[in-house]
Amino acid sequence: MRKAFVYRLYPTPAQETALDGVLALCREVYNSMVNWRKHDFEVSGQSPNYYEQKKALPIWKQSHPELREIHSQTLQDVVKRVDLAFQAFFRRVKAAPKGYPSPGYPRMKGIGQYDSFTFTQGGYSVTENALTLFKIGVVKVVFYRAIEGEIKTLTIRKRSEKWFACFLCEVVVESLSESQESIGIDVGLSQFATLSDGSTLENPRFFRKEEKALAKAQRKLSRQKRGSSSRREARKVVSRIHERIRNRRHNFVHQFARRLVNRYGTIVVENLNVKGMVKNPGTLRVLAKSISDASWSMFRSVLTQKAESAVRRLVSVEPAYTSQDCRVPSGCCGYRVRKKLSERVHSCPNCGLVLDRDHNAALNIISLGLQRVSQSVEAAAFMRAE
Ligand SMILES: [Zn+2]
Repeated sequence: MRKAFVYRLYPTPAQETALDGVLALCREVYNSMVNWRKHDFEVSGQSPNYYEQKKALPIWKQSHPELREIHSQTLQDVVKRVDLAFQAFFRRVKAAPKGYPSPGYPRMKGIGQYDSFTFTQGGYSVTENALTLFKIGVVKVVFYRAIEGEIKTLTIRKRSEKWFACFLCEVVVESLSESQESIGIDVGLSQFATLSDGSTLENPRFFRKEEKALAKAQRKLSRQKRGSSSRREARKVVSRIHERIRNRRHNFVHQFARRLVNRYGTIVVENLNVKGMVKNPGTLRVLAKSISDASWSMFRSVLTQKAESAVRRLVSVEPAYTSQDCRVPSGCCGYRVRKKLSERVHSCPNCGLVLDRDHNAALNIISLGLQRVSQSVEAAAFMRAE
């Protein structure tokens, strides 16, 4: 299966100029190739094919030494793009009904219309936090999630003044073996998650660090005068931190969801009610809450995707009273132990159970979830019987 992995690039101004230069040259080569096909067809009724055009590249390089700044496979890919445009054109001509105007001929690309170039095999190398590109050098990149599989091509794309690297990879689809194991998950502020088996997943340390950086940057932003250049600069800093948080958060929830889906056949979570807007951004507690909320909803959506593609059962239950009711996996007491948010321990006056508050919640979540599963299994059986 082919899968794409896209990362933002952070070129220096000089590198950006060089990248723009590559795009401009690729565009010129593209347009010249289109022109050549068109011209020959008009003169002789025959156009050069892909191989003939590809063979011309080394000759072009002799008269246009600037083309040596581009990797030869990148140039070949430009020729390939021309060929694909013509193949698509011929298909349209064939498919067009009689009597209708014939489909448009492949067009030359205007400035800004040519926004990407591709490496097929060579011309680049990947390290932990950088990408080395032919004649461009080492470009900064944040690999917020690992590239999987075997890289087939790398396309560098410019979109609204930002640069991206897109790796197209051949990924082997893993088929997970069926699992009878189930797990309940409680998400919280002090821990990112507590599982019904009693284990916990800590909030990553960078959350706290980034919260502080964000609070500082937002306070600075609020002090700047409207329309001033320092305000624009401060806003840039804030949005950079947001982007960094988003990337690292994605990486974090991705790994957690992968671990769960690999092992468990049934995964039970709470319906999330992420509360409204942040009223007073800049205060640390509000920020911590908003970062956690965003992480949880991202976790839910990543988990949903992964569970679907791995055919795992994902059940969500209502969060009412899950942290209050007393429940143990083997036989439940069910007594409602009211507690404040600050009380971290569940201590039941009825049956004497003492348990970490979040662990008790995770146990409630899994038992509610499994109840729902058996109800729906029963309901399905009744429907078949009727
Ligand atoms: Zn109890």
